[in-house]
Amino acid sequence: MAFEPVIGLEVHAQLKTQTKIFCNCSTEFGKSPNANTCPVCTGMPGVLPVLNKQAVTFAIKAALATNCKIARESRFDRKNYFYPDLPKGYQISQYAAPIAEHGHLDIETPAGEKVIGITRIHMEEDAGKLVHDPHRAKSMVDLNRTGVPLIEIVSEPDIRSAEEAGAYLRKLHAILKYIDVCDGNMEQGSFRCDANISLRPVGQEEFGIRAELKNLNSFKNVEKAIRYEIERQTYVLEEGGQVIQETRLWDPNRNRTASMRGKEEAHDYRYFPDPDLVPLIVEKDWIQEVEKTMPELPDEKKARFVKDFQLSEYDAQVLTASIELATYFEETVKPLQNIKQAANWTMTTLMGMLNAKGLDITQSPVPAQAFSSLLLLLEKGSINANAAKTVFEEMAATGTPPEAIVKEKGLEQVSDQSELEGMVDEVISDNPDEAEAYRNGKTKLFSFFMGQIMKKTRGKADPKVVTPLLKSKL
Ligand code: ADP
Ligand code: MG
Ligand code: ZN
Repeated sequence: MAFEPVIGLEVHAQLKTQTKIFCNCSTEFGKSPNANTCPVCTGMPGVLPVLNKQAVTFAIKAALATNCKIARESRFDRKNYFYPDLPKGYQISQYAAPIAEHGHLDIETPAGEKVIGITRIHMEEDAGKLVHDPHRAKSMVDLNRTGVPLIEIVSEPDIRSAEEAGAYLRKLHAILKYIDVCDGNMEQGSFRCDANISLRPVGQEEFGIRAELKNLNSFKNVEKAIRYEIERQTYVLEEGGQVIQETRLWDPNRNRTASMRGKEEAHDYRYFPDPDLVPLIVEKDWIQEVEKTMPELPDEKKARFVKDFQLSEYDAQVLTASIELATYFEETVKPLQNIKQAANWTMTTLMGMLNAKGLDITQSPVPAQAFSSLLLLLEKGSINANAAKTVFEEMAATGTPPEAIVKEKGLEQVSDQSELEGMVDEVISDNPDEAEAYRNGKTKLFSFFMGQIMKKTRGKADPKVVTPLLKSKL
């Protein structure tokens, strides 16, 4: 029997506020353990949480960017459970009345554009972290992350493959970074994903039983874990077994998922409205204020690149995939005429170099300004394409500006009419037999003469000047 995967994703994104969601503690990453704590976020008796307005503004911005309806009134609930990294014994979250619902996000698939529904976005506080010291028979608690503001973005079960899940996550990640509400750092846990997966026989409406995958800390791992889980569930069902509802952890070292807890251990969180917090009211004018700060989103930027730069859909897609790359490209093309050439150089030469070095665009050893200067030299004909490649490699290796490399290596293209004319005369008189044969119709020999000129100039002659000279002299 053929099965169809059904996937829904839950993403936790840390909001880029300076301070925590219900107290004034700093959110700065990497401080010494428990440096960023106070009586509120350590859950001392008698303290009162006060909602961080900036966190709400960021949540509104995320909701607008994902086409959600923002609730005029939402509420904070207590999600009760016991764990040593949760000093209050409950997490403040939005359960019954989230800040936003009914959104969607469009992804590119091989079959065209696909709309993935977003069920809800809610705000909540993060928990702390346990530190397990292998040299001591005890664990320690670091509460710096306790109370850091998060939004959880829950998708509809509209995703049908690991590739679609990857595309959805990359798009959501790009959007949150474009609107500057989340730093997107997956290693530091600023953008985390849980994946829910079930299978159903093709043609069946009803969903199957799902497993929830946790510990997916990169796009690649999300895709790998989903692929593994689809295979595992297919095997279970084909053997006549049943998938059990459970939470499974992805083990990146062994490339498999393993059961963490089953349904029988599922939590009853005993949600109830937090009596310390009043309902959150978001009036229209607040939403309008946030709308005014909304930058160009990935889809809009892509459309503009197609229209203004006459780039293909594909090129525009690649170049707008992250805000950093898009900004780099826009900086690069500022003084240029030949945008298509700049796009090709960015996507092949620049990105090829970054891939080879394992760097991302923000770590590029060639800054946009220098890359732009190089392409300008190429565009003006000061150097030819071969020389430009040589210069680029040197720039990537040493960080030297392109003009200096061109001078130092003597790579300027020879375009001087009289200089090249002299060489053309020489080459013709040095090769009288070939010249004769050319005149008698063996026009293929033209490239022989061009080759001779290139030899004399060590590849630096400008073919646009040499060609007419050779033609007329021959
Ligand atoms: P929970 O409260 O257990 O996290 P939710 O109902 O809020 O469960 O759903 C969480 C996620 O699981 C959502 O992204 C949703 O789309 C997805 N989901 C729900 N049912 C299924 C299913 N049968 N198969 C795959 N994904 C599902
Ligand atoms: Mg869940
Ligand atoms: Zn605090």
